[in-house]
Amino acid sequence: MTKIAVCICSGGIDSTVAATIASQGGYELHLFHASYGQRAEKREKEAVDKIAAYLDAKELKFVEIPFLKELGGSALTDIAREVPVAKEVNLDKQRGTPSTWVPCRNLVLLATASAYAEVVSADALFVGFNAEEARAYPDNEKEFVERYNAVLEKAVASFSRTPTVKAPLVDLFKPDIIIKGIEVEAPLHLTYSCYLGGEKHCGICESCLHRRRGFKEAGVEDPTEYVYESGENPKSQA
Ligand SMILES: [Zn+2]
Repeated sequence: MTKIAVCICSGGIDSTVAATIASQGGYELHLFHASYGQRAEKREKEAVDKIAAYLDAKELKFVEIPFLKELGGSALTDIAREVPVAKEVNLDKQRGTPSTWVPCRNLVLLATASAYAEVVSADALFVGFNAEEARAYPDNEKEFVERYNAVLEKAVASFSRTPTVKAPLVDLFKPDIIIKGIEVEAPLHLTYSCYLGGEKHCGICESCLHRRRGFKEAGVEDPTEYVYESGENPKSQA
């Protein structure tokens, strides 16, 4: 019997590597992407479209979750708030919740993707949660996945198949995720990570800084075109 996987895909490196691992594992792929009013939505959607084609996904499901933007609380969905760049970002030591955090986003995305997984009778729900993100965000930890899986058993109908959330990168940091991505032939060149949503990656937002450091530390050539050098701050030049 065909194994079915729903893969939550933002268009970034982590979720793309996780989806590729699902594909290599013989799952029929159903990619899931949510628009929640994030600045980079247009670019993310373009990336996910290409990634779905590359991975030969059976279906690509786009959903709108507009209420996350309505609820507010994040610089990613509120253009009146500034996204920190360059030296305003500290990748290793965060003091307080960063302005780019979207309150409970992963929980909301997982719940929504779980509904889709029940509809298509998926066996698994793949996510790109990882150790790098888990340093600041507990909704990337193994424990979050385990507890969510316990809830999910009681969330689907009795005669439905219960999908299991799988986070194959949960113990990995960015450089190892990139190395893993190359090993499984993930389309890293098609991914998009920038918080700002420009045509090219800015190179200096938190997400771009993680991306460029990941490639550097992995010793892998970075295929990304960045607008700014990592130490550059366009605000201070203005
Ligand atoms: Zn960026």
